Amino acid sequence: MPFSGRCACGQITLAISGKPISTRQCWCRQCQQIAAGGPTNNAIFKADEVAIAGTLAAATWPAASGNTLTYHFCPSCGSQIYGQSSARPHLKTVRFGALDEPHGLKPEIAIWTDEAPTWAKIDPAMEQWPQQPPAPPTPA
Ligand SMILES: [Zn+2]
Ligand SMILES: [Zn+2]
Repeated sequence: MPFSGRCACGQITLAISGKPISTRQCWCRQCQQIAAGGPTNNAIFKADEVAIAGTLAAATWPAASGNTLTYHFCPSCGSQIYGQSSARPHLKTVRFGALDEPHGLKPEIAIWTDEAPTWAKIDPAMEQWPQQPPAPPTPA
């Protein structure tokens, strides 16, 4: 099993059988709102490779793209577990914080950097997109 994970209280656990398609750091305002003012760091997996035990809560927001984003989190401790776009139901965007250490992942691409606060330090070695990047490649 390449990756395991859990929320802060342990009510939700993850078992992930595949490798990420992409890893991204998102600085959009909605991510800042759920991540205490910083970015979210995420690993995008094929949805059917992410098994989750426990009952998640969810909230849905419209995205600037016109898609609907659904945020899944632990109803007990509030930990963010994954997000999903209505345009890409075959993918799950898993929060780094929900993965057990040492997972060995780091974000490869920074997105929505236009919305990053002035104090943000974004690694210049990372690929950067001022707003939404192209969709990740469709997995085979
Ligand atoms: Zn929890
Ligand atoms: Zn975001």
